[in-house]
Amino acid sequence: MKFYVRTYGCQMNVADSNEMGRHLKANGLVETQDPEEASVFLVNTCTVRQHAEDRAFSEIGRLRHWKTKRPGRKIVVTGCAAERTREYLEDRFPFLDLVVGAKSIEDFSQMAAQLLDRRETDEELDYAVPSADDRISAFVTIMRGCNYSCTYCIVPSVRGREIYHSMEQILGEVRDRVAEGAREITLLGQTVNSYRHGSYRFAELLEGVANVDGVDRVRFISPHPYYMSDRVIETMAEVPEICESLHLPVQSGSNKMLRQMMRNYTREQYVSLIEKMRKAMPGMTLSTDIIVGFPGETEADFRLTLSLIEEARFDWGFIFKYSPREGTPAASLECLPQELIEERHRECLELLDRVALEKRSKLVGTTPEVLVEEDNFGRTRTNHKVHITGNVAPGEQVRVRITNAQRATLQGVIENGNITFENFREEDSRARTGAG
Ligand code: SF4
Repeated sequence: MKFYVRTYGCQMNVADSNEMGRHLKANGLVETQDPEEASVFLVNTCTVRQHAEDRAFSEIGRLRHWKTKRPGRKIVVTGCAAERTREYLEDRFPFLDLVVGAKSIEDFSQMAAQLLDRRETDEELDYAVPSADDRISAFVTIMRGCNYSCTYCIVPSVRGREIYHSMEQILGEVRDRVAEGAREITLLGQTVNSYRHGSYRFAELLEGVANVDGVDRVRFISPHPYYMSDRVIETMAEVPEICESLHLPVQSGSNKMLRQMMRNYTREQYVSLIEKMRKAMPGMTLSTDIIVGFPGETEADFRLTLSLIEEARFDWGFIFKYSPREGTPAASLECLPQELIEERHRECLELLDRVALEKRSKLVGTTPEVLVEEDNFGRTRTNHKVHITGNVAPGEQVRVRITNAQRATLQGVIENGNITFENFREEDSRARTGAG
């Protein structure tokens, strides 16, 4: 029996889909990339923006026809929109077999087992294999929920307050992913660096994961600037497996807007934080999230965001047009005109792209190490995506000469054939200590 997963939204949702996929595989199902082959169709929804929710709902509507084409087919809807609109979903789409909200993802295994016990199919069971996107570079969720109350954000109400997995559980999952072939582990949480469990804090967890045999790279998303402590920065700088790249959402360059968004830091604190990190990790890359058009954003506030992009020299980022979400504190505020939001979005994106391309162009001629994730595609330690010319297979690590820099990716050719991780480690530690 086969299952197909459609995921909307953020990396947390991708990780949740992978986790639910593993539970389905544990029940004997095999993942397919073709919905027509599937007996179970899982839609993992997102509610952060109305657009994502609308797309998921139209997909669910179309599944009525998919379901009736073969008897015994099941439709499972999960995630944040399922949490927020469960009654509406069950009412509008009575053909759904299971609706699991984001707060109940941890119970998915049990619910899925019950669902599959009701199956009326006699298709043969195959062996489960890890999905490609979770093989070389795997996500491991370390916590769920968020204790913050950013005024634009629906996450705290659909995912609840923070719950942390134990260090033991996380390290066990990391070992499982490595056993399946993962070389790179990305730790996930809504405010991933606020992690705490017993006496362990995030820095200890990073060290623990980096020490697992077979883990060659460690990353994490998304950290909150407030929890980016000196201890975490030191750990990133000192532990060779932790990659020198960070996605650190800033949201606005105006202190007035940051206050209204309830972000709990100022522009000055953010800038001094990134200066500290760049001093500890020269060459690190920094990306961010920015919201334009938040209610009350004046032209002067917007100019402050543009000046922050120039000052921070982000390597890439995501610019979001503000849209109100029902149930958030900001939803009751008066929105700016849509044309103005569009215009600011365009201007902000152009500037960010220009800064990013300037920085990326300087990489032409350099020879970073690239971990290959798919045929001829991989990423550097600094998280640049690279298309590689040459014969390489997923899981290999190669030194690549960068020949071209484009808007979102780099291109390069293999420099000296393939090199082992051990060689890279030696070179890395020489570079970090300045020896040799
Ligand atoms: S930190 Fe703010 S933006 Fe991030 S998930 Fe929590 S409430 Fe939402």
